[in-house]
Amino acid sequence: MILSSQAASEVPAIIDRAIEQNPHAENLLRAFGPIILRERELAAGLALPPLDVSQIDREKLSSGVSVIRQINLIPDGEDFKEVALAMAAAVKEGLPSLADDMNRLGEWIAQGKIQPADVLKFSARHEEGAADAVWKTLPASPSNASFLMSLVARVVFEARAIEVAKALGAYAWEKGYCPVCGTFPSIALIEEQGGKRFLHCSACGQDWRYTRVSCPYCEKEAPGGMEYFYVENKTQESAFICDQCKKYLVTLYRAGHVLARDMDVSAISLVHLDMIMQDKGYQPMTPCPWNVLK
Ligand SMILES: [Zn+2]
Ligand SMILES: [Zn+2]
Repeated sequence: MILSSQAASEVPAIIDRAIEQNPHAENLLRAFGPIILRERELAAGLALPPLDVSQIDREKLSSGVSVIRQINLIPDGEDFKEVALAMAAAVKEGLPSLADDMNRLGEWIAQGKIQPADVLKFSARHEEGAADAVWKTLPASPSNASFLMSLVARVVFEARAIEVAKALGAYAWEKGYCPVCGTFPSIALIEEQGGKRFLHCSACGQDWRYTRVSCPYCEKEAPGGMEYFYVENKTQESAFICDQCKKYLVTLYRAGHVLARDMDVSAISLVHLDMIMQDKGYQPMTPCPWNVLK
């Protein structure tokens, strides 16, 4: 298992390079730049009570039970207020049109009227109903509130993903959803030498290897080769398409380890493929703030 998230200090240069190569995505990349940078800084510096990794069962992992379904990743006694306020500030910097909502949410968080830790626990337990009930009480649009909370979750889960990777080392994992947090991938990377496919989770930053002959979402197999959509003259990027579940997955091809890459920045850079695939009636494997276009 590897983590592709880059050190925070490398993020600005990675974003500048992505803008040069993908001018069509410049506005999105500039908007998400401060957000990604802040996420990386906070995740690297977050001091959480250590996980009891002895509770993680490798047998269960090999049969597809993700870490989040085995142990509690959200520690008791942490409120994540500071993380939420820092991410709200980063959102205001990147997306000034959300400033009013971020200010209102920030006030409620500072006053303890919203408990970010509780919302994280609901989403970790897939209690969407409980999270929806919280959104209804908030002084901001539910989509902006849940966007902010998804960023807080990313910081906490990224810190946990790093911790799990260090503690477990290599382990067997054969599913198309994330071994740490159970979310489906936002982007895939295929190494041109050897042809291995890696999937990337934008909810926690984890990368994992997955077979190239089946769909990560519905596991439909196509030993003769899966279907990919290409834009003319662009051979380094494509969208994997599944005709059974009607999902797509944007995919990059990499020849060697040339330059540092951040898979979340790469996913945002490929937003033109999201537009094309959604126009054709396909859905992303996981919704991300930049690929929910309709
Ligand atoms: Zn994940
Ligand atoms: Zn499928």
